[in-house]
Amino acid sequence: MTGKPNNFVKNQKLSTSGMVAIAILVILGAFYALAPHDLHISSGFGYGLEHTIHLVLGFILLAAAAAYYAKQTGMMKK
Ligand SMILES: [Zn+2]
Repeated sequence: MTGKPNNFVKNQKLSTSGMVAIAILVILGAFYALAPHDLHISSGFGYGLEHTIHLVLGFILLAAAAAYYAKQTGMMKK
């Protein structure tokens, strides 16, 4: 009998929506963390915030992307 649902695949593939979510987080994170402040302002995504805030926001987005990726691929438990 092979009724056990115990065939956990370690290299779980990311869903398309998961990849899109991560891509958006990475792009936004990179934009805030790496782009010059002039670009933030001229692009309209500066929201009148200081660049320090942009940097923090960028790293949070990148960290969120990494955490989400780890979760989606089963690198972290739960
Ligand atoms: Zn900025």
